[in-house]
Amino acid sequence: MTTQGKAKIRITHAEPLGQGARLLRLERADGAALGFAGGQYVIINTGVTLPGGKLAKRAYSLLSSDAEQRAVEIAVKRIGAGPGSNVLSDIAVGGELEWSGPWGKLRLPDGFSGRALVVATDTGITAALGIARGAAAAGAERLDLLWLVESDAYFVSERFVRDRLPAAAHLSIASGFPPVGHPERPARAAAIAGELFAAGPCDAILCAGDGAVLYPLRDRLVSLGAPEGGVLLESFFNNPLKKSA
Ligand SMILES: Cc1cc2nc3c(=O)[nH]c(=O)nc-3n(C[C@H](O)[C@H](O)[C@H](O)COP(=O)(O)OP(=O)(O)OC[C@H]3O[C@@H](n4cnc5c(N)ncnc54)[C@H](O)[C@@H]3O)c2cc1C
Repeated sequence: MTTQGKAKIRITHAEPLGQGARLLRLERADGAALGFAGGQYVIINTGVTLPGGKLAKRAYSLLSSDAEQRAVEIAVKRIGAGPGSNVLSDIAVGGELEWSGPWGKLRLPDGFSGRALVVATDTGITAALGIARGAAAAGAERLDLLWLVESDAYFVSERFVRDRLPAAAHLSIASGFPPVGHPERPARAAAIAGELFAAGPCDAILCAGDGAVLYPLRDRLVSLGAPEGGVLLESFFNNPLKKSA
């Protein structure tokens, strides 16, 4: 049975991924399937009450293949003293939390065929992996994945990504990308992604990660000929449409 909405999830496996990142395998406590498509995310209620009295609920994209709907995987980067990432970095195997989902429109459309370009910055690689791993089943003939990231130690490693990518996906990593907040990031992203876009017609463009980079990038790709409305974005942070994250 597939049920969208709130449920309890159990941590069934956890492993460290280098400095300050952790892979978690999750299953619904009632054993139901999630019914997600690659690129979608879940919202986890961390149980932490924020100073204003609200519960800290945080989104995490599913990086596992949507061919498996019961045991799913997320990767979490610890962000300073942030409540969500710290709870998930420390929770024990067997622990349970409440979640809701799957949510999100960052996915290949039903009946898709052709070339997909996926651009990820920073932790956005999780959503990109989810999309890439479901791409062949979703109808993609070719998928180019560009990851803009500071270094191999920033989050998951290049090896982690390559081990999970289907052979048909083409991965380019712009390692040495300036750190989050650096003013040159938008222009650098536009130059690198613009080159990939120019390499051939794209039928879908999907972007995940830093909103401060991805919104200007979408404008740039539209100015280069990408169809308006044909570039999908998921801001993991720095979402210009939100007053606070
Ligand atoms: C759709 C979606 C999918 C996401 N998927 C993932 C995922 O797969 N893995 C993951 O680790 N995180 C992911 N995130 C980010 C996650 O939801 C939290 O924002 C993050 O874990 C920090 O939460 P926190 O409570 O620890 O810190 P908070 O106190 O909430 O965060 C502190 C600040 O850091 C910002 N921030 C979040 N991530 C980063 C980053 N990488 N670099 C710099 N600043 C950042 C937040 O927006 C906030 O302004 C996703 C976010 C969204 C919206």
